[in-house]
Formats: sequence, structure tokens, C-alpha cells
Amino acid sequence: MKRVSRDNCVYEMSPNHKAVMHITPGEQVLFETWDALHGQSVTNEAGLESMNYNPATGPVYIDGAQPGDILSLRIDKIEVEDEGVIVCGKGMGVMGAFLEDSVNKTVKIENGMAVFSDKIRLPLNKMIGVIGTAPKDEDIPCSTPDYHGGNMDCKEIREGATLLLPVNVPGALLALGDLHAVMADGEIGISGVEISGTVTLTIDLIKGKELPLPMITNEDHVMTLASHVDLDVAVEMAVANMVKYLQADGFGVYDAVMLTSLIGDVQICQVVDPKKTIRVSFPKKYLHGGL
Ligand code: CA
Repeated sequence: MKRVSRDNCVYEMSPNHKAVMHITPGEQVLFETWDALHGQSVTNEAGLESMNYNPATGPVYIDGAQPGDILSLRIDKIEVEDEGVIVCGKGMGVMGAFLEDSVNKTVKIENGMAVFSDKIRLPLNKMIGVIGTAPKDEDIPCSTPDYHGGNMDCKEIREGATLLLPVNVPGALLALGDLHAVMADGEIGISGVEISGTVTLTIDLIKGKELPLPMITNEDHVMTLASHVDLDVAVEMAVANMVKYLQADGFGVYDAVMLTSLIGDVQICQVVDPKKTIRVSFPKKYLHGGL
């Protein structure tokens, strides 16, 4: 299996980056990743905005990938190291206006649990915070989510799920990082348990198909994702994408809207990044054919 070293990392997704490795579609690849803070601490004087953060490992070039194709990323395994960090404080996240100090807290991982305190040990929900392809004609910082993926901080980007991303440039130029050992929907304090680790993906290409991307599928659900600075707009975008997907699956528009209203859960991924991310989750068992 190919292994992409975390010595190769980028702080923005860019069509101008040089690929660090070529991948053949169908191949399984292991990525080593840094945690989002990359060993730095936030202080009262220097918040996140003053640092280079959210390094993503890569990018890798997927042979044969052309604009208009879909990159299919099955997440086979996520492994995390034995210590992570969570931060919150002044100017950060939903509560930033009410906090005076910036606080960094080390969180040990023991026996599959994150040790928040002597009394509070949390089960892990390991996930990938940053994963994206190169945008078509601009650089987008790794901290920003958008149509290319990026910092979606979605807890459904986890082991067993398949993430579908657009190919915007030849080779796709995939990069990823920013693992979280634990994170809730919203990520309201501005971070999860940020942690270094490894991700094993099976990377494939889908050609000749149009889907409202980014999307996730897992055993039971299909999900649309959308990011925007305005949460209301992100909701509209993610819902419109699900309705569009259901129409492509054979539902009339009114049935698609009614069914999404009945069984399509609108969920928040995160509300703390430069754009906020919404997902709409629909049970696969009601689809005609699915993806
Ligand atoms: Ca993140």
C-alpha cells in the first residue's frame, strides 16, 4: 500500500500545487496527517487567525481523473495517536465573545476513550475534518469548506463512509488532514479533540455521472453537504442538492420535497469555520436505485 508522508502538507487547496504522488484508481492509500494546530498553542495575544493551521497531507494526483469526474473516497480506517488537544477562548467559536482567556487542553486517548477528566471519558468518533480536491481556478485555505470539500468538519466523514468530491482539475489533487478523535455537530467551541494520525482510503473514479457534490454515503444513508457564510443559505443549498438528487433518482419534485420534509434530516456539521456546513441525510432504503 502506498503511504503519503505528512512531511508533504499544504495549507491551501490549489490547482497550482505539484502532486507528491500518483495514484491509480482502485488503489488503497494511507495518509499520515498532522493535527490541525500542528503543535502550536493558542494564546490570549495570538489566536487561531495568527497561525498557519489545518495542514492537509498531499496533494496526490489520481491518474485519469478529469474535470467533471467524481472522486470516490471510501474511508477504510482512521487511526489516531494517543494524545490530542482541544482549544477554546476569546474570539473563538460561538462563545468567543463571552470568554476572556484562550485555553489549550491536552486530551489523552486510552483504551478507545478520550480522557476529558478523571470522571469524564468519552467514546471516540474519529473523523476527518479537512478533505478536498483542488478548486478549479483559485486557492482556498484548508480552513475553509466549499464546493471542493475542505474543512467541512463533518462527523459523518468517518470509517465505513464513502465521500464523493468533484474533480475540478486534471488529477483531482486530493489532500486531507485535521483528524478529530471526538467532535459533536456544531463544533461550537471551535475545535474537536484535534489529533494526528493516519487515514486509509480506497480511491476511485466515477465517470459520466452528475451528482450534487459533495456527498457522503454509508450503510444506511445518503447525504448532501453544503457550506456558506450564512447558515440559512447553507441549509437551502444542502436541501436543494438533496431534492435534486432525489429527482435524479426518479422522484417528482413535489414528492422529493415532501419526503425530504418527512425523513431527510437537516443537520449541522459546524458553525465555526469561515463558511458553515450543513448536511441533509436521507435513508437509502426509500431510494429507487441510489447512487
Ligand atoms: Ca477543522
